[in-house]
Amino acid sequence: HDQLTGVLNRRGLEEAFEKEAARAARRKSPLCVALLDIDNFKKLNDSLGHDAGDAALIHLATVIKETMRPQDTVARIGGEEFIILLPETEVEAGTKALQRLQRELTKRFFLHDNQKLLITFSAGITLCRSDDTQATVTKRADEGMNQAKQTGKNRVIAA
Ligand code: GH3
Ligand code: MG
Ligand code: MG
Repeated sequence: HDQLTGVLNRRGLEEAFEKEAARAARRKSPLCVALLDIDNFKKLNDSLGHDAGDAALIHLATVIKETMRPQDTVARIGGEEFIILLPETEVEAGTKALQRLQRELTKRFFLHDNQKLLITFSAGITLCRSDDTQATVTKRADEGMNQAKQTGKNRVIAA
């Protein structure tokens, strides 16, 4: 697990991905992979400090866990980047789930020194294919995420 947020870390995700990909193949059920990156996180860190940044990461992880389904897997794979595995989910439903998460975040701003802070994220989501590895599927989700950044942020793009 990731020490700061309590969600899985990179290694935990590797194990979870192998398990979910195998299960999806066995059941012939769809598995989606989403990659989320917080928008303008450097600005938050620079203006309010590293502790506020850390609190924002914990807040996001909490809202993800409380909003997504219990069978979804959440992992923090870098500074402000998260991966969510969505078993039994097609891209369209997965996109809707992430948009619901975005709405939830706008409702659940968090307080830092009595200041209301709103965090947003950009995301890419993709359906895992039978010939995908964790690397290829993550790359595709990352491309969607980058497209979301380039087209205005706070968006979800299916790739
Ligand atoms: P964009 O909207 O394009 O994603 O821009 P950004 O500012 O979010 O992205 P950028 O990659 O420029 O900055 C990421 C920042 O994340 C840089 C670093 O200060 C911060 N960061 C990385 N890991 C941690 C962490 O564990 N805690 C805190 N507080 N900040 C972190
Ligand atoms: Mg980033
Ligand atoms: Mg960012």
